[in-house]
Amino acid sequence: MSQNNKSVRVRFAPSPTGPLHIGGVRTALYNYLFAKKHGGTFILRIEDTDQTRFTEGAESYIEETLEWCGMLPQESTKLGGDFGPYKQSERKAMYKQYADQLLEAGKAYYAFDTSEELVEMREAAKAAGSVAKYGIASRGQMKNSLALSAEDVQERLDSGAPYVIRLKVNSGETVVFEDMVRGLVRFQSDEIDDKILLKSDGMPTYHLANIVDDHLMQISHVIRGEEWLPSTPLHVLLYRYLGWEDTMPTFAHLPLILKPVGSGKLSKRDGDKHGFPVFPLDWKNPTTGETAMGFRERGFLPEAVVNFLAFLGWNPGTEQELFSMEDLIESFSLERVNKAGARFNFDKAKWFNQQYIIQSSDADLAKMVRPQVAANGHEVEDSALETICGLLNERMTTLSDFWEQGYYFFEDVKEYDRKTVKKKWKLDKRPIFDTLVETVANVEPFTGENIETQVKAYINDNQLGFGNILPIFRVSLTGTMKGPSIFDVASLLGKETVLKRFETAFAAFDASKQG
Ligand code: GLU
Repeated sequence: MSQNNKSVRVRFAPSPTGPLHIGGVRTALYNYLFAKKHGGTFILRIEDTDQTRFTEGAESYIEETLEWCGMLPQESTKLGGDFGPYKQSERKAMYKQYADQLLEAGKAYYAFDTSEELVEMREAAKAAGSVAKYGIASRGQMKNSLALSAEDVQERLDSGAPYVIRLKVNSGETVVFEDMVRGLVRFQSDEIDDKILLKSDGMPTYHLANIVDDHLMQISHVIRGEEWLPSTPLHVLLYRYLGWEDTMPTFAHLPLILKPVGSGKLSKRDGDKHGFPVFPLDWKNPTTGETAMGFRERGFLPEAVVNFLAFLGWNPGTEQELFSMEDLIESFSLERVNKAGARFNFDKAKWFNQQYIIQSSDADLAKMVRPQVAANGHEVEDSALETICGLLNERMTTLSDFWEQGYYFFEDVKEYDRKTVKKKWKLDKRPIFDTLVETVANVEPFTGENIETQVKAYINDNQLGFGNILPIFRVSLTGTMKGPSIFDVASLLGKETVLKRFETAFAAFDASKQG
């Protein structure tokens, strides 16, 4: 679809009510990709009109997430821009003006109903078997400026009685809009209720603030989660009643991210149950002190998370799966976003991560895993750590695997693979292994290649069979049968450590046989 002459301006508009869910990160990503693809502007707007849900730290969490993922906005609270402020609580005065405009035009009205009266209305509707809705059918029986006399209304306003402003939805209007993902969406205005626009505390609701801001910020496309689709007809009416329908943004509603199994939306509970993160970064709940795990802390590379999320709801239509941010910008289009929900698959996330770990240079990987070495109380030179990373990179699906896979480069072996020892260690063969150690002790210089040549020559010359010797060689040095070339490992450990490890291991193996 051509973007006409309108310059592309899109916004990511989260509410800072808690940690950003991974679905929110995908929304941000699709906005970012779309903006970049069309040479447009990516804006971060903080929608904090619901002060009761304000959560300490949530806004900076959003900023940090965007930064970590490499999706920096061009306009935001932090950066400013020509359309600020970018936080709704700082725009309060603007919204009132538009609520007043709607009141004057007869498109909105004052409502004074108490919460008890609203409950009563809902219960009466339920009892009558109809849908409880404050709107076309029920507004005449409620306490509002359409039903009450003008004097009564004035009196209430003069006395400072609490009120809200509601949208007056006209009966019999058709709302049609073209959604870039879903195609033509059609609604009848009679299905829409008279939503509150301005709350009794003077704050706008999400609906009013969202529409006013999208208009004033000249947003060209609204790309957001499917959960907002039911609100869109109301938004279209708001544009219409405010006289802005001609410049209304184009909508694109993104598919839900589904649970790994079963039906429904992916939730924090799924993550807790299956042990995977659903947040980009660790989040410490300021009230409970509980920490929810993030992809970053779980050892994911931001490039992998971005690539994985891009594919949750979109595909390029080719076999290619690995896409850098640049590649994504080039290939992304809203037309290729699916209507159907996208199933979250943690194994796939790990697969992406593994690919990015393999692709990383040893030097980059070393920087990423160095904190694990330090956390375990060790120091290591860059060059050694880089070599270790080169040996282990194909064995890590997340960065957190590093320590488990490679602790033996820094510390003594914790335990030996029992099966191997049981099967391969024979007390009467000890002299063979002692000679093997002597052979290793004589290797000079102590390179992987030299160790390999000489150990293999020893095995061959004495017709010992690789399968009888090498497993013991490996398990003695690393404890495990898994791992990279054992000769490279030995070289990196250094002769002194290798000889010491053989000694300790052989003693332990003997003991296990005698015991
Ligand atoms: N503040 C809404 C949210 O938290 C934004 C929805 C929209 O993009 O219009 O998702």
